[in-house]
Amino acid sequence: SNANLFAVLRAAFPSDLDAIAIETDDGLCYSWRDLDRASAMIANLLEALDLEPGARIAVQVEKSVEAMMLYLATLRAGYVFLPLNTAYRGAEIEYFIGNAEPAVVVCSSANASWVGPIATAAGTRHVFTLDDDRSGTLLEVAAQCSDRHAIAPKQEDDLAAILYTSGTTGRSKGAMLTHRNLSSNAEVLKDYWGWRGDDVLIHALPIFHVHGLFVAIHGALISGSRMIWFNRFDAARVVARLPEATVFMGVPTLYVRMLAERGLTKKACSRMRVFISGSAPLLIDTFDAWRERTGHTILERYGMSETAMLTSNPYSPVQGERRGGTVGFPLPGVQLRVRDDAGAPCPTGEIGHIEVDGPNVFAGYWRMPEKTREEFTADGYFKTGDVGKFDELGYVTIVGRSKDLIISGGYNVYPAEIEGFINELAGVAESAIVGVPHADFGEVGVAIVTARAGAAIDGEAIIAELKQKLANFKIPKRCFVVDELPRNAMGKVQKALLREQHKALFK
Ligand code: ATP
Ligand code: MG
Repeated sequence: SNANLFAVLRAAFPSDLDAIAIETDDGLCYSWRDLDRASAMIANLLEALDLEPGARIAVQVEKSVEAMMLYLATLRAGYVFLPLNTAYRGAEIEYFIGNAEPAVVVCSSANASWVGPIATAAGTRHVFTLDDDRSGTLLEVAAQCSDRHAIAPKQEDDLAAILYTSGTTGRSKGAMLTHRNLSSNAEVLKDYWGWRGDDVLIHALPIFHVHGLFVAIHGALISGSRMIWFNRFDAARVVARLPEATVFMGVPTLYVRMLAERGLTKKACSRMRVFISGSAPLLIDTFDAWRERTGHTILERYGMSETAMLTSNPYSPVQGERRGGTVGFPLPGVQLRVRDDAGAPCPTGEIGHIEVDGPNVFAGYWRMPEKTREEFTADGYFKTGDVGKFDELGYVTIVGRSKDLIISGGYNVYPAEIEGFINELAGVAESAIVGVPHADFGEVGVAIVTARAGAAIDGEAIIAELKQKLANFKIPKRCFVVDELPRNAMGKVQKALLREQHKALFK
């Protein structure tokens, strides 16, 4: 049978193809038949270009349903989808296009004047435009193509997509994902989260990233569920549509913004089945505030570009409760272990490096064989770069990234532990601890803290309070109060940037 992910998704379309598959927040409706026909037309367009097998289709466009159809069409035609963050500018696009050498580049018409020449210089033969108002050359040409298309046959290990990582810890790497990586994960999540044909997903995440592109879209399509589609996240609008929805997925910042909306009430969430959070740590405060306001316990899960989803808090109470501050259990089929620096397994409760294996683990970094070798263990596990631990019941907690670990005077300091203490202090909204060079200690922690609305907080006082609670080697040497922590598009705190800002403090 055909291992093409599109074939797997297509087989799950409901028998009534005229039913609504997607409704946009501005009132446009797309039936399942529309998805089928439009993806066929774009797939025919791509096939007519006569590209070599494995050709990359690089896409940097504003979010739209048509951009999703381009993704489906790329799978359908058997090429490799390569989405790029809409925030990227000249130097970044030059790196990605130079690195990926796509055969086709699709960009917004506003950016075509500078993306086009970069693509051409890198040897790209075809540049199309696509805008979020259903205009652009891609759709103009596709309109001339047949709406019937036989799904390209694919093997399980053929590439389906290259997803560049978020670049939180360094330069983004292209994670090569196969059809099986993606379909196995979609199937596991469908069961684990209890997806149903009558679910309605609010899709308000960007679609250049694993969360919005894979977890959300695959989840809805493989379940034959309807989506309410937002090209942009707008807290008030999303809250206004909650009464019609059953599933919502967000990064933690989205939850924080929705909590600021008056319309977020138990009543507004009365049809909701599950709220899912991931991509960055969800603060306990947010987890608690959400439960109080809506009566729903957010389900936090953990994954990454290289592996799609790895762990999840339980959906069903039979499997256990959803524990705030944890990312739940390894998903069925995922092997997850925690090991120390020497490679020995860590006992329960002890912090170590998280390593994973399973059908969802990627095929390696695009054109980085060296890096790929480094990031796999001798027995084939992928080193996630995250540090964490198991508790007695098997819940996994992420403590941070190995790159963010601070070694101060020979002691390991886990930023997340200190951040947890600081976040509990009166008046504190959130915090980030980063390590900076220090002549005596090698490295020391520096705290960057934001205040709750209306609260006045003081860095010195925070340090004094921490001294009552924690060992001296864990105490940050300086504490800065700022208005906001720097975050990237996925809501991740940019610690590399903070480290850079403060690197000369103790030099
Ligand atoms: P780069 O690899 O380029 O430094 P990145 O790791 O942020 O960037 P992604 O693949 O988008 O790129 O993000 C995966 C990472 O996000 C994980 O390794 C983990 O550190 C973090 N993450 C995802 N979900 C959670 C979660 N629920 N709690 C804590 N961290 C999470
Ligand atoms: Mg990463």
